Amino acid sequence: MTTSANWPLLEADNVSVTFPVSGGLFTAKKRVHAVSNVTLSIAPGETLGLVGESGSGKSTLGRALLQLEHIADGEVRFDGQRVTHGLRSDVARLRQQTAMIFQDPFASLNPRQTIGESIAEVLRVHKKVARPAIAARVAELLTRVGLRPEQASVRPGQLSGGQCQRAGIARALAMEPRLIVADECVAALDVSIQGQIVNLLMELRETMGLAILFIAHDLSIVRRLCDRVAVMYLGRIVESGPSEAVFRSPRHPYTAALVAAIPEIDPDKTLPADPLGGEPPSPVAIPQGCAFHPRCPYAQVQCRTDAPPTRRHAEHVWSCVLMQAGDNAIFPLTGGYKDEAQAC
Ligand code: SF4
Repeated sequence: MTTSANWPLLEADNVSVTFPVSGGLFTAKKRVHAVSNVTLSIAPGETLGLVGESGSGKSTLGRALLQLEHIADGEVRFDGQRVTHGLRSDVARLRQQTAMIFQDPFASLNPRQTIGESIAEVLRVHKKVARPAIAARVAELLTRVGLRPEQASVRPGQLSGGQCQRAGIARALAMEPRLIVADECVAALDVSIQGQIVNLLMELRETMGLAILFIAHDLSIVRRLCDRVAVMYLGRIVESGPSEAVFRSPRHPYTAALVAAIPEIDPDKTLPADPLGGEPPSPVAIPQGCAFHPRCPYAQVQCRTDAPPTRRHAEHVWSCVLMQAGDNAIFPLTGGYKDEAQAC
């Protein structure tokens, strides 16, 4: 086994995930391109936000990175070792050192088991501590996430949503993970509870050096929690970079529209009624050229046929024909930036 602190903890290289969908009686089977040619990396201790509308492929990508979805093309490396079609020992190490937190805290725990039994099961199956030490470790993990050790004896149905999510996080921590994939883990909670869970994740990141892939559609939380952000549209990453750069100067019109819709940035601002101009197209029939062109207020003739070029300014990367690095005019409809001279 080769490891290095200098390597990203997790890397995805041109990863694609497709699903078959049944065609009609006389039509050929089609495939949904849920994730297309995604390249990203997460460093040890880093929090990467993955954002986009529902159906953009965020959750599928999160599961694919943990090898819970079949990868049609490309590869994932964990700690420098290939895990897509890799050695069984490398895949086992990925499973030992990663964990997921899910959106529905009640569905992620067995309703027939007590919270303590659910956590103890992970410790036992993955041989994390000797059997006589399991009860003490369960109590320690519950305390770690802000629950009382006595709550080990209750079932998920006896807890509030926030307490249940804390129990889910304790179960994930039982793996002693280096990377957690948190899939919309606060979306089902009240706003005040969301803040508590985000604070807990930030504290765990600081104290345990956890890397977190934080999948969310709430950009205000992502801005607060994440070091970097990647924006997905119809299975592709259309913009990525340090959170501050992406939120302050979004370079892709889709990102600019999402950022403009965050109320807390300017609570007095009148938002466009429909900043994105309708529903995203079906992933079964992704538009040619730039997939965003049917909804893009700045689409140009070539956007219908040509794939958008990739632009880069330091760590900030985006795929759009409009802006070169250094352009800084404002997108009038979305609150982001654009080169006025190139608008249609
Ligand atoms: Fe809009 Fe064209 Fe840029 Fe796509 S490439 S986001 S359609 S301007």
